Amino acid sequence: MKLSEKAEEILESLWTAVEEGGAAFLDPEKMSFPTDDPAYLELTSQTLIEIRQGMIYFRPEGREEGKMSIRRHRLAERLLMDVLNIRGNDGEIKACQFEHLLNDGADIKLCTMLNHPATCPHGKPIPPGECCLQARAQGDLGVVPLTEFKSGQEGEIAYIQTDDNKKMQKLMAMGVLPGNRIVLMQAYPSYIFRVGYSEFAIDSNLAKEIFVRK
Ligand SMILES: [Zn+2]
Ligand SMILES: [Zn+2]
Repeated sequence: MKLSEKAEEILESLWTAVEEGGAAFLDPEKMSFPTDDPAYLELTSQTLIEIRQGMIYFRPEGREEGKMSIRRHRLAERLLMDVLNIRGNDGEIKACQFEHLLNDGADIKLCTMLNHPATCPHGKPIPPGECCLQARAQGDLGVVPLTEFKSGQEGEIAYIQTDDNKKMQKLMAMGVLPGNRIVLMQAYPSYIFRVGYSEFAIDSNLAKEIFVRK
């Protein structure tokens, strides 16, 4: 389905409000463009949404379309912020533009390259696609936080998910860098891991920011 960027934005906002915010509808006043924008007509004419008493509601197909838009957006965030290291506001803006290129199977290629990430850099869930379900069925769970490892398990560090420079430097000083091997020695009461020949202990807050590929 080919939708305009504004139409996709509406679907994404609606999906976030309904699926993550527990609301029944979205107030169009919350969007950054006027309520008479043609994007609304575009969505109602394709029966993706309906507008009742001035509020936006999903039609079943629209919900699915919204989910896929959110998926593309969060995959784009992963690429821009983790791989290309474009963060902050600039990363946000570019992710919004990039997501629209992820159609016709490009999302599957990107998702596979990123090893089917479960969350975006903000910690929000990425709705799984066919590729993720297949990978999971084959026992390949992709990239998981270190806190999901069992003691004795070994993997490769995929990326660190933190906006806190001090934490980042602390982890880097321990050798927690993408590409390095990591072994979880103990998961309780604190996380003890080995990188190279050194062992370190960290708390779960820090451990869940280290993403590891099995
Ligand atoms: Zn995000
Ligand atoms: Zn996937």
